[in-house]
Formats: sequence, C-alpha cells, structure tokens
Amino acid sequence: MDIASQNLIIKRFPALYRKRLPFGFECGNGWLDILLDLSEKIEKTAIVIGISTDSEKHPYAVQVKSKFAVLSFHGENLTEEMQTLINEASDISCQTCEICGAPGRIRIHNKWYTVYCDQHAPNGSILASERLSAAKNDNRERVYQRFS
Ligand SMILES: [Zn+2]
Repeated sequence: MDIASQNLIIKRFPALYRKRLPFGFECGNGWLDILLDLSEKIEKTAIVIGISTDSEKHPYAVQVKSKFAVLSFHGENLTEEMQTLINEASDISCQTCEICGAPGRIRIHNKWYTVYCDQHAPNGSILASERLSAAKNDNRERVYQRFS
C-alpha cells in the first residue's frame, strides 16, 4: 500500500495504529476502504464497551497483510466481537481487487495469490478456482483449504 494511503489510515485511527507496523500495511491500495471500514468498526466497538482511545486496553494492530489473497489483521486487546469484524473484512477482501477495489477473484501469478479484477489480472495469471480443479485431478499439488 502506498505511503499516502497508509498515513491516511493511521491519521484517522491513531489509537488503533499507535504501534508502528514493522512492515507497514502489506497489501494493495484496493483494500483501503475495507481497512478504513474495519478500523472504524473496531474503534466503535471499543467505545461501546467503555474502552476509550487513550486507554491502554484499547486494541491496536500489530500486523496487517495480504496472506494468500486474504486480509490478515493481527492485533492486541481484540475482543471476540472485533475478531468477528475482522473475519467479515477478510471475507470481503478475497473478493476485492487489491489494485483498484473493484470486485475481483483470487488469481495465481508467479506462485503469488492475489485478488484481481478482470482488468488488473496480469497476463499469464490463472484463477485459483481453476487451479483447484486442476489440482483435484492431479493429487501431487497441495491445495489450501480455503479454496475448496
Ligand atoms: Zn482492479
């Protein structure tokens, strides 16, 4: 994610991102809206249960990345309800182009799993769903459960 987008998130939610992420936000700009929405929901949830943004108990992010084309958000002080919000955001992310935010599908390119819309799919990439059916016919390939 570019620096301007990263700074925008941190500026809007300074409490949630009060600890510097060692590698920044390791995903594309297309997921910016998902992260803004998720961050807002987590902070609102904290306020509802009486945890203010200046409390030590306020949640904070420790790692935000795209892992096998799914948003992975790790943090501290997260409640079960916040974890549910994170899971919902992850479900949306794996159908959202990491480049532009349009609806997309998981594709494999140079062994990397990324969500691309049709417009941003790199030449030579294949749909993970197609790879799955190919792998089903050929058991030598390891298949990740989330694609089954
Ligand atoms: Zn796109």
